[in-house]
Amino acid sequence: MSVTRDESVIVVGAGIVGLCVAHELGKAGYRVEVIDPAEPGSQCSSGNAGAISAGSVAPLAMPGVIKSAFKMFLDPDSPLHVPMHYWLHAAPWFTRFIAAASPQRVGQIADALSGLFTDAVENHMALAREIGCPERVVKSGQLHLYVDEAALAKDAGSWRLRESRGVKLEMLDAAAIREMEPAVSERYRLGVFMPEQAAVTEPLRYAQAIAAAVRERGGKIIRDKATALVPQQGGWQVQGEQGRYQADRIVLAAGAWSGGLLRPLGWHVPLESQRGYHLDVTEPGVRITRPVVLSDRKIFMVPLETGLRIAGTVEFGGLAMPPTERRALALGEHAKEGVPGLQLGAQPSMWMGHRPCMPDSMPVLGPVPQHEGLWCAFGHGHLGVTGSINTGRLIAGAFRGEVGLQRFAPFSITRFR
Ligand SMILES: Cc1cc2nc3c(=O)[nH]c(=O)nc-3n(C[C@H](O)[C@H](O)[C@H](O)COP(=O)(O)OP(=O)(O)OC[C@H]3O[C@@H](n4cnc5c(N)ncnc54)[C@H](O)[C@@H]3O)c2cc1C
Repeated sequence: MSVTRDESVIVVGAGIVGLCVAHELGKAGYRVEVIDPAEPGSQCSSGNAGAISAGSVAPLAMPGVIKSAFKMFLDPDSPLHVPMHYWLHAAPWFTRFIAAASPQRVGQIADALSGLFTDAVENHMALAREIGCPERVVKSGQLHLYVDEAALAKDAGSWRLRESRGVKLEMLDAAAIREMEPAVSERYRLGVFMPEQAAVTEPLRYAQAIAAAVRERGGKIIRDKATALVPQQGGWQVQGEQGRYQADRIVLAAGAWSGGLLRPLGWHVPLESQRGYHLDVTEPGVRITRPVVLSDRKIFMVPLETGLRIAGTVEFGGLAMPPTERRALALGEHAKEGVPGLQLGAQPSMWMGHRPCMPDSMPVLGPVPQHEGLWCAFGHGHLGVTGSINTGRLIAGAFRGEVGLQRFAPFSITRFR
């Protein structure tokens, strides 16, 4: 049954997060407009690895990994890199990143993420069925590979944390890895399999299908760039380059670009783009049947409807710096170490996107204090596909009065004040 409410909401940003929010609000009977200068789903939500990693509840900053992470950040050829010119700019973000790695804080973050990702796999599968593309979300499991015990030991803390939050893990030896994924090289001798994880078979098409469902329910998707969010008597105005739009409430879901729209309202959020890359190979010459992660290289290899996607790496540098082609090409070379039969072809397609990352690996969700009617839904970092559906459900639930505001407390924008 659909209810119509006499209330309007503007969602700023049509990435996977904004689209899920818009879809859930549309279902709840709200009049929804989504504003975005780009095609729905075409930014970070198009080129990601599509893994629905509900078990990824360990933050990036873990006790004991900070030192090795910083060594990597300094090396231009490592999977994690901060260019020299960007260190000063990123310093406040890194200060918070280090603070988030205390054992007590890590436990709190794991609890919060675990709550946010509860049933994310089932909820994405239900969404895919609802919007007419059930084949686009598959419960394939996820396989993480290690070269030896010492490499696995470095990640032991994060695996223990996941297990402690109920995530199912299976340890694999070399033979079991080869049985599961025969194309994987003998270099990788240990594996951790997460059987309950899922994957989207084509992230852009999934986002486009959600956008189509938003429109089918009467929602509008408007091509415009929001330049200011202006509080008004009893509501909000979004000022855009092409027009002005009124609504009772706003949900800000502009991914890595969200910070700029909050600054004039007095909110400075430590949001950084962790620029990630992919190479898409249409005829890889090998078969990979589920997301396979080369832990030492920090890359995902995922089978898509269109071929094999090799995705990963983290590069700081902000929203304006041009892509570093070398980083995308390195993905191909590193993937060959994991899958020796891989053929990259003459021209694999390259892509770079902006992961919207908060230093504590948690998104900013919920209302903005002193700005009634303004809500946040951004900063999902490495897990925006995973977290998008429950973000939409939580926000729609809160608007309907069925989800209490305390549910948003761990994700509040006030945690950075
Ligand atoms: C290489 C890589 C691999 C990844 N793999 C995974 C994975 O396997 N699993 C997973 O869960 N996540 C993964 N992620 C992360 C995931 O892709 C992101 O967290 C997610 O796409 C963020 O979605 P979003 O809607 O917040 O942002 P976006 O998709 O970037 O959408 C934000 C939208 O806001 C719009 N916008 C910007 N400024 C304005 C403005 N002024 N007015 C209006 N609109 C505006 C933009 O045009 C854009 O469309 C990966 C990311 C990368 C880079």
